[in-house]
This record gives sequence, C-alpha cells and structure tokens, in this order.
Amino acid sequence: VTTDDTAGGAARGSARDLLRLVATGMADSRADLARLSGLSPSTVSQRVEMLIAQDLLREAGAGRSRGGRRPRQLEVPTDTGVVGAVDLGAHHARIATLDLSGQIVTVREFAVEVSEGPEPVLSKLLAHLTDLIGELPGGRTLRGIGVGVPGPVQHDLGTVVSPSRMPGWNGFDVHGFCAEQSDVPVVVDNDANLMALGEHRWAHADLEHAVYVKAGTGIGAGVISAGRLHRGAQGSAGDISHCRVSADPTTLCSCGNTGCLEAVASGAALVDALRTRGLSVTHPKDVTRLVQDGEPVATAATRGAGRAIGEVLAVVVNFFNPQAVVIGGILADCEPLLASMRASLYERCLPLATQTLTIERSSTGVNAGVLGAAQLVIDRILDAS
Ligand SMILES: [Zn+2]
Repeated sequence: VTTDDTAGGAARGSARDLLRLVATGMADSRADLARLSGLSPSTVSQRVEMLIAQDLLREAGAGRSRGGRRPRQLEVPTDTGVVGAVDLGAHHARIATLDLSGQIVTVREFAVEVSEGPEPVLSKLLAHLTDLIGELPGGRTLRGIGVGVPGPVQHDLGTVVSPSRMPGWNGFDVHGFCAEQSDVPVVVDNDANLMALGEHRWAHADLEHAVYVKAGTGIGAGVISAGRLHRGAQGSAGDISHCRVSADPTTLCSCGNTGCLEAVASGAALVDALRTRGLSVTHPKDVTRLVQDGEPVATAATRGAGRAIGEVLAVVVNFFNPQAVVIGGILADCEPLLASMRASLYERCLPLATQTLTIERSSTGVNAGVLGAAQLVIDRILDAS
C-alpha cells in the first residue's frame, strides 16, 4: 500500500520535510528552507517548485524585507485540498478532515460497532467522511484517505489478519474496498501504529526511539525507531496483545492461548471482569468513569491491568531501550492503571534502560489516530509526486 519511506521521518530535507517546515511556521521562504534543511538553494527551489505544482505549497506575495531583498513567501494552502482520516475503534470511529499540512479542519466521532463486519462499517464511515467534506466551505477536494483499524494489518496489502473482536474482518482487503469507492490514494494501518505516528509527529518529533501504547478495548503498541515508524517485516511490530503475563495464566484469550495481556488487561477484559463482579459496565469508558468515581472494585481491577501492562512493557523497554513510553487510549485516563504500570515497569527494568526514560500520557489524546492517518496519506501523496 505504501513504501517504507512513508513510514516516518525519512531523510531530513525530503519534499515532505520542507512542506512540514512551512506548515509548522518554522520557514516561510526558500532561504529559510535552505538554512534549516542544509540543502543547497537549487535543490530547495526544485523541491519547492514540485510542491507548488502539486498545490501543496503556494507563493504568498512579497515577504519581509531582509537587507533590501524581498524573499517570496511560501505558505501551505488551507483552502484547496484536504485529506480524510478515519480512526476505527471497537465501538466508535473518529473521522476528520485535515489540511495538507496535517492540521485538523473538522473532526467528529460516530458510534459504530466494528462487529457489524467490514463492508457495512466501512461504507458508513466513507459516507460520513463524504458528508464532512461536503460541509467544508469553498469546494475543497479530497486528496487521499488514511484508515486505522483496531487489529493487525498486513502492511503491504492493507488487509486485516486474524484480529481479535473483529468478526468477519479476517483477510478483508480494507485498502481495496476503500480504494474502489474513491478515486484518491488510500492507506491503511493498525490503529496503534497510527497513534504512534500522530503522537510522534505532533508531540515528540525530537524523539528517535519511543513506544506508544494504546490501551482501549484492545491493547496495542506502535514503535518509533530511529525517528521512523517501525513496522517490521509484515506490519505486526509492536503488537503486544498476545504476550503472556503472570497475572492470570488461566484466562482463555481469543487467540486460543491462555494468559495473554489482551485477555487480562485490555478494556474488553476489564469490562468482562467487572460485569462478573456485578458492576454495570458495557464499554471501557464505563470502566474509566467508575475508576474516576473511586469505585474500589474497578480501581483494583485497573491496578492489576496496569501491573500486567508494565510487566510486558518492561520486556519491551529492556529489549528496545526507548527514550519514552507514551500511553494513550481510553484506559490512559485511569490514574491507578498508570501508577501501577510505572511501578511494575521500573521494578523489572535495567537501571540503564530507565535512567532517562520518560513515561507519560499521550498529548494528542483522542486525535492521535486521525493525525497519524493523515500524516501517512500526506506522505503517500508526496511520495507519489
Ligand atoms: Zn491471545
């Protein structure tokens, strides 16, 4: 679906890096771009011309006077193209339109049950996206669509492979289905990968090595290595859901094994466990609400989940030595879960691995997935140029 070059930072100084410098306000002229990227003025000019030809950059008249010279100013057009981003969860989807610099224009959340199956769910989401674009002022055109799904995605094909709690989705060609219904580039990835990409680009662009954990209905992780999203050979890198934990070796997981992290510490597992204890919960957000209200059974359960997540992350941190572990998803709002996750992670890690490690909550929050999906499709548009 995309080349590996779309997976992350790539060389500083690529066309998308230049676009990003303008989009973030760090540069507004070719001279700025040459200075910041270290590229020669002629290379900058060449890439800028290409971006202008694609409507991704435009000249904005005369710039500030600098010693008598008037550099032509550059800006990212905010009134032409948009990309669509879909972040599908188990019970809801977040859909956004973003300008070509990756800034959100509109964003909305819809209730949708992923268990209804791929065709009805994706058709609904694409219809919602079409509505969102129709509501934008002044004839903006759709340039591409990024889609995140809450299950393993074979990256080169854009198909879902053996997901938990996604009946009917196994082997489904999400990329093919969406591409057939629209005539723009479509990219598909796992939701945790997109969260990692969005959070990294917008909140931690300086980090070279980081792990982003999504703790929602399921548990996943995305890995940033050497400044780029690391997908591994097939796209399953970072999938920690079926790592075995010691908390409850008897609980049967959807994968057929017992004691998986997913079966013990995911939002879905917590909902099941609390229901068994007689609490009225349907979705992971109900668990978070109970914990925030100080309900003791829910609080104890999320502490246990945090310990289990920390146990798995300790292996990840020892193995991978990231600069940061960032946690997002609805369960990240449970303070007791975060506290016990930290405690078990520190307890089991090498001092060298945790010496400068930061562990924090996602700062792009619920928008991490759509920001990442947009980033991926913008990269794709730029790479196709
Ligand atoms: Zn499992």
